[in-house]
Amino acid sequence: MDTKIIGMDEENIDMQAIELAGSIIKSGGLVAFPTETVYGLGGDALNSSSSKKIYAAKGRPSDNPLIIHIVEMSALSKIVRKIPKAAYQLAERYWPGPLTMIFEKAECVPLETTGGLDTVAVRMPSNQIAREFIRASGGYVAAPSANRSGRPSPTIAKYVIEDLAGRIDMIIDGGQADIGLESTIIDLTGSEPVILRPGYITEEMLRQVIGDVEADQTIMEEHTSQAPKAPGMKYKHYAPRGNLIIVEGEAEAVSAYINERLSAFRKEGKRTGVIATDETVASYLADSVKSAGERGQEEQAAKCLFRILREFDDEKIEVIYAEGFRQKGVGQAVMNRLLKAAGHQVIRL
Ligand code: AMP
Ligand code: MG
Repeated sequence: MDTKIIGMDEENIDMQAIELAGSIIKSGGLVAFPTETVYGLGGDALNSSSSKKIYAAKGRPSDNPLIIHIVEMSALSKIVRKIPKAAYQLAERYWPGPLTMIFEKAECVPLETTGGLDTVAVRMPSNQIAREFIRASGGYVAAPSANRSGRPSPTIAKYVIEDLAGRIDMIIDGGQADIGLESTIIDLTGSEPVILRPGYITEEMLRQVIGDVEADQTIMEEHTSQAPKAPGMKYKHYAPRGNLIIVEGEAEAVSAYINERLSAFRKEGKRTGVIATDETVASYLADSVKSAGERGQEEQAAKCLFRILREFDDEKIEVIYAEGFRQKGVGQAVMNRLLKAAGHQVIRL
């Protein structure tokens, strides 16, 4: 398949290209598009064959549901059975934005879109290209992240092209994603709201609006008695091709330990990489040392983490050490993704 690639700017949207993208979706095709979180792979959410195509293009297991992207509150009532009060409150504060809510699904939402579940995930993105594209597509775009299953989510179009060119109809290149991590997911179908995936909208930010929220026990731990409630979270995710190990502890001890390990691996002829911070980036001896921003500024790490993981692949790095991040605020989301990328290999000094 020939994949059309069209670039545009959020401040200067190419409406002709958007109309074309919309008509591709309406006729059952697939278009990758930028959002404020990561790039999405869009199809018509109400068309079961479009959803099947999304799974096929990504190589995604069919029990891992998609998120439906909308632009108007009025669209929500068509695809969900009921809207709890908490959803109105959260939407008022955080929509459009990086928050996904889980509802009981309405009849018109095909089971192919929800991975066989009777619940549905819905988000209203704020990126203007995404919004125009969803409007032009008829208002209901199912979109998981636009990567091949298991790979780090793409925050720039280059990596969408790498994973999906030839498999989908069109890719809209809208530059770098502002946030860099996927949306926070909150389940509103139970007696208590439960966070299924941490993201830029933190537990604290949710609490400010709706009071008590629980966090799914499986978010930060590898071995729990529970299966994650977001089916996607049980799959191997975000993994770079090299072996990634997180090292936590006092800063000097961490860099001393990592340098010692790096030197051993270099002697074996392995290509090595480090995920450091601005403060420590100069202290490592590796083939590739990358800073995830200033320590304590986890928004910066969120924005560049997935790109860094992909760059190590580009550079054929075989062993990667990462400093740990604070699990505060958006740092919890950063560590959630980093732990998954590392297959939960953590060394605590
Ligand atoms: P992605 O956009 O690629 O991050 O994938 C969507 C994420 O949303 C996956 O982790 C899914 O498991 C999760 N998700 C989508 N729909 C539901 C649902 N109905 N219930 C729980 N989790 C969901
Ligand atoms: Mg994904």
